[in-house]
Amino acid sequence: MGARHAFRRLSIVKPSAVAVFEAHNTAMRVLVVEDEVKLGKLLVRGLGEEGHIADLAEDGTRAIGMARAMQYDVILLDVMLPGLDGYGVCRRLRRDGIWSPVLMLTARDAVEDRVEGLDAGADDYLMKPFSFEELLARLRALGRRAPRERPSVIEVGDLRLNPAAHRAWRGEVELDLSAKEFALLELFMRHPGAVLTRDQLLERAWDIAFENRSNVVDVYIRYLREKIDRPFGADSLETVRGVGYRLKATA
Ligand code: CA
Repeated sequence: MGARHAFRRLSIVKPSAVAVFEAHNTAMRVLVVEDEVKLGKLLVRGLGEEGHIADLAEDGTRAIGMARAMQYDVILLDVMLPGLDGYGVCRRLRRDGIWSPVLMLTARDAVEDRVEGLDAGADDYLMKPFSFEELLARLRALGRRAPRERPSVIEVGDLRLNPAAHRAWRGEVELDLSAKEFALLELFMRHPGAVLTRDQLLERAWDIAFENRSNVVDVYIRYLREKIDRPFGADSLETVRGVGYRLKATA
């Protein structure tokens, strides 16, 4: 009995409209992160039968180690893992600069769970129970993306910023920034090491044209330092006298 049939029996399957099989699948290297060993092994076997190369990691720590050692085309990541959960694994991978597409497996149909997964840097999610056909279709879609195409998080040193989710962190600590502080920080993080003049900052971070109000920038830089540097004993936002400001490339 093929794994696809075993999968049907073990799991649950309604034939999926998504299941459109391509004549020639490109072989992918897939990391399956799943603590339910029976399901994990079945997934690995099923993917193998489809011509893919799949490895199994039974917990988050092992998954991170394997993803560091090998570039996977897709990481299939269960949310509910003992110890470090799927969100934590995904955040750690992204922070380490590992951009393999992540397909998150979630057991719950809660919108917040999906949002949390996407915030953590996942590319797509699939709700358990799912059909093997749908899993294959999603994997193919993700496998077509180049892993470095669209980082969802910008990193400079240990500063991280997720533009879509409007969240930013220094290390593990989430920063509580106003909309304007966030806009400024994003601007700096998109140009690490570059000097941005007050005019450039005004023009790009403020919608309104200020006339000779460049001290507004100075005030906001002070606010920003109070949030991203001072509490952490950091000194990442430099004043370049007579020119403007610069975020150190190492933050
Ligand atoms: Ca699990």
